[in-house]
Amino acid sequence: MKFSIALTHDCNLACRYCYAGRKFRRGMSATTAARVMDFVFRQTPARHRLGILDLGFFGGEPLLQLPLMHRLVGDIQERNREHGHPLVFHVTSNGTLLNEEILAFLRQQRIELCISIDGPPKIHDRNRPFRNGRGSFDRVSANLLLAREHLQRVQVNVVYRPGTLPHLSDTVAFLLDAGLDPINLNADIKACWDEKSVQALHEVYWQLAEQFIARYRAGHEYALNMLDNRALISRASLCAG
Ligand code: SF4
Repeated sequence: MKFSIALTHDCNLACRYCYAGRKFRRGMSATTAARVMDFVFRQTPARHRLGILDLGFFGGEPLLQLPLMHRLVGDIQERNREHGHPLVFHVTSNGTLLNEEILAFLRQQRIELCISIDGPPKIHDRNRPFRNGRGSFDRVSANLLLAREHLQRVQVNVVYRPGTLPHLSDTVAFLLDAGLDPINLNADIKACWDEKSVQALHEVYWQLAEQFIARYRAGHEYALNMLDNRALISRASLCAG
């Protein structure tokens, strides 16, 4: 069973396509966290083939609630002793708050990290500024390097929308050339996808497929998830575990 746990709606970025709604400057309460735990174990059948417990920490920016994440991971592991489910943890972060301490915690707990980056500076900064309007690319790319030094692997999430769609193939090439893999592509489903954009999407997916084949033939294998990234994240975390 898969669960996405939104630790907070708060965030230090102000992405133009933010889906997180109003940003309350607080995290999940202890009462809600306890209810989440009950819900998770109630919903996951014991000794069932789907008995894997796949927990994704999400937000807002989940790393703003690091102590809560610490607590939940510990509590879930403790409570799972009697259930014996294989556990999979992952966290999706905007990548701006990472440091060595956080990375050590993720490594120790085998929490798979996925960082959101929308492409080269011009594309990324267009939609993912800090609250003061400054682009976040420099911070995110520096932290991606740091993360890759500390973790076996780091996934990246790319959000694209009609305005950035024409650059999607270049964005994927940019990330691959930076050694990033797997790459998960996510459409901004709240954007206005008119007929023209949908047709353009069709063409861009062909470009991505051709790029994939060309690189594969040149000996560069990589994972580009265009449709079902949540399933991929779970499988990858299981392998890493
Ligand atoms: S990283 Fe961007 S999209 Fe995600 S919660 Fe923060 S502002 Fe919203």
